[in-house]
Amino acid sequence: MYKLTLIPGDGIGPEIVDAAKNVIAATSVPVNWEIVNAGLEVYEQEGTLIPENVFESLEKNKIALKGPITTPIGKGFQSINVHFRKKYDLYANIRPVKTLPGIKVPFSNIDLVIFRENTEDLYIGIEKMTTPTTAEATKQISEKGSRRIIKAAFEYAKTNNKSKVAVVHKANIMKLTDGLFLACAREVSKEYPQIQLQEVIVDNMCMQLVMNPAQFEVIVTTNLYGDILSDLCAGLVGGLGLVPGANVGNNMAIFEAVHGSAPDIAGKNIANPTAIILSGAMMLEYLGEKNKSDLICKAVKEVIGQRKYITKDLGGNATTTEMSNAIIDHM
Ligand code: NAD
Repeated sequence: MYKLTLIPGDGIGPEIVDAAKNVIAATSVPVNWEIVNAGLEVYEQEGTLIPENVFESLEKNKIALKGPITTPIGKGFQSINVHFRKKYDLYANIRPVKTLPGIKVPFSNIDLVIFRENTEDLYIGIEKMTTPTTAEATKQISEKGSRRIIKAAFEYAKTNNKSKVAVVHKANIMKLTDGLFLACAREVSKEYPQIQLQEVIVDNMCMQLVMNPAQFEVIVTTNLYGDILSDLCAGLVGGLGLVPGANVGNNMAIFEAVHGSAPDIAGKNIANPTAIILSGAMMLEYLGEKNKSDLICKAVKEVIGQRKYITKDLGGNATTTEMSNAIIDHM
């Protein structure tokens, strides 16, 4: 029996997390969920976005499935997601992007994984007004932070028989920060002579991805570029509702969709549950339950391929519940 933390989140979070929970139950992997919540509703009731029991549960169980959480706009609110990633040093944000049958997109052969550095770069949150009319942000890149995410990308490539890793940077302009990241990639790549290192400048990467995405297998990059490129890649395969993710550190892993809380469609039972369901599948693989994870991925592919029970964002009219029930029926 696995004891795991479940954070429903807010917006569409509770609806899609419930769907993922049901799909995982249908694999018959024994899970004892500890449900704790963070986000806007909790803030309204308890005056804090992340209550103490969330930290306690994460620290005890070390593995969590998490719904999206709204970041309130305004001073003093740090993104909860950024908070978790920093507090628990979840340095690898892993986002697999694949084309699925049945979805009309320009390319049918995308199968890549983005490794986004999750703890450094402009996301460290150091910004100041240097004069009344000039703002400055600090971009921080370290050798330790760079090496470990690049190593994670190469290890993934090695384990999954991938032949190349693309490092994405802007070292031609940011010679020290991105220069360091690139230098670390060149250094780490020497340990993997069988894997080709592709060096791609971030603006060129955007063009390459929309012209010929199949040339990439594994992408490793810094925090901000990784954030932007993952939404670009999500668009290439049919939208944010399809792309799962994991935030992984040495001692903890939190699995969540790439998308946010989608307040525009919350509470209507129309959100696409695919991204969170596939995040659940990633979690099962992390737990060593590869067969059960494959079972979910196969069922998702079949349901989307048949186009009968798909949500509005994919051109159908199924509800979240109908789509997730169809996935369960295909398992
Ligand atoms: P979003 O991803 O919530 O929504 C962008 C668009 O995609 C919306 O039109 C939405 O309806 C659609 N969409 C997203 N997920 C979908 C799904 N599963 N099915 C169908 N359509 C879907 O991005 P946003 O509007 O910029 O952000 C809303 C809030 O979410 C913000 O407060 C943001 O900070 C937060 N956010 C949280 C996370 C997280 O918790 N990991 C990630 C990103 C954004």
